[in-house]
Amino acid sequence: MEFKGSNLIKLMLLTQCLTVLCNHSPKFDYFYFVQQWPGSYCDTRRPCCYPSTGKPAANFGIHGLWPQRNDGTYPSNCDHNHHFNSSQISNITLQLKIEWPTLSCPSNDGLKFWAHEWEKHGTCSKSKLEHHEYFESALKLKQIANLTQTLKNAGINPDGRSYPLIKIKEAIKKGTGFTPVIHCNVDKTGKSQIFEVYLCVNTTGSNFTECKVFPKSICKPSIVFPIF
Ligand code: AMP
Repeated sequence: MEFKGSNLIKLMLLTQCLTVLCNHSPKFDYFYFVQQWPGSYCDTRRPCCYPSTGKPAANFGIHGLWPQRNDGTYPSNCDHNHHFNSSQISNITLQLKIEWPTLSCPSNDGLKFWAHEWEKHGTCSKSKLEHHEYFESALKLKQIANLTQTLKNAGINPDGRSYPLIKIKEAIKKGTGFTPVIHCNVDKTGKSQIFEVYLCVNTTGSNFTECKVFPKSICKPSIVFPIF
């Protein structure tokens, strides 16, 4: 196919516009709401650093709210022009520091972690959730799914003992009403431990829903719930 110079430029511009439009409002079908056990972030071979405000409570913390597609793929980094803006979340910063604590080194106030999550995942949910709403939705979801209490109610505590994976899943299903996916990592001695809990959420970020696609989980049948 032959293009005259001006037609070629028009075609290039059109392609670029479509790419921009698609990336700014990519289709997604649900979110993963991912919570993390801080004890399992901090007892691996990689160092962790407590936030500048001090050691977080022994509580699950938010990792992120990630748009996902039913085919198993997910959009990421959808808008390089829509940077994280801390002034948009100034009224919820205190709550974010408690519920979405940073553990990366060097010690910091959390803005870097939240900026990463917004720019990688939040920019892809903009068709449904704007900047402030994105963080607020995650905070609300955490209130609904209080994993630490839910597990405690089932006699599963962060005491360094091992618990059957199936019992952990059953307890979360009973407490939240939805089937979780548990992700494990290994501690310094190589023991499999509960690291992150994934729950599925509708596209408006308002309610949990049963997952249609389950991400692969690599946990042993019995896993440690480490002390923090
Ligand atoms: P993501 O890119 O959203 O899949 O998240 C992975 C990134 O988040 C990695 O760079 C991790 O080191 C970082 N990360 C995970 N949990 C934390 C945490 N609690 N504090 C700071 N960074 C974290």
